Amino acid sequence: MATERTFLAIKPDGVQRGLVGEILGRFERKGFKLVGLKQLVPSRELAESHYGVHRERPFFAGLVAFITSGPVVAMVWEGDGVIASARKLIGATKPLEAEPGTIRGDLAVNIGRNVIHGSDAPETADFEIGLWFQPSELCEWTPADQVWRV
Ligand code: ADP
Ligand code: MG
Repeated sequence: MATERTFLAIKPDGVQRGLVGEILGRFERKGFKLVGLKQLVPSRELAESHYGVHRERPFFAGLVAFITSGPVVAMVWEGDGVIASARKLIGATKPLEAEPGTIRGDLAVNIGRNVIHGSDAPETADFEIGLWFQPSELCEWTPADQVWRV
């Protein structure tokens, strides 16, 4: 499995509910490497670009209003198969359909307040990382425990 990068974002509900540490910990414990992290209130322009694929959907205006309503924790994580694996750890879009043990399955109820975003494919990961982060904001580093990683 190739080493890849994905874009994850803790949405305003996750920040407001104090779930940042809980969520970061899940990806750290899984064994992925954090290479970018910042908190920001997204602009309307950023939110509309990020969710551009949903522009025609009835929930688009509400989604953009929500995602720009407060701080978001934006992250880039790196690791083998991290794009698909992070989506598994996040769980289904509808929290009531997300399996227990997933972030949404354990921590959310409402589709419009489902705590976290994760890129769904290599192309969207590249697009979203470039949209949210400058290259200079990403850290190249080698974990001290890499000796036991295969
Ligand atoms: P995911 O976040 O799992 O990739 P989608 O890309 O389908 O899900 O949708 C993006 C976000 O839009 C979802 O996480 C959710 O917050 C919101 N959303 C999706 N569908 C609905 C809906 N039917 N009603 C309200 N919000 C929705
Ligand atoms: Mg999506």
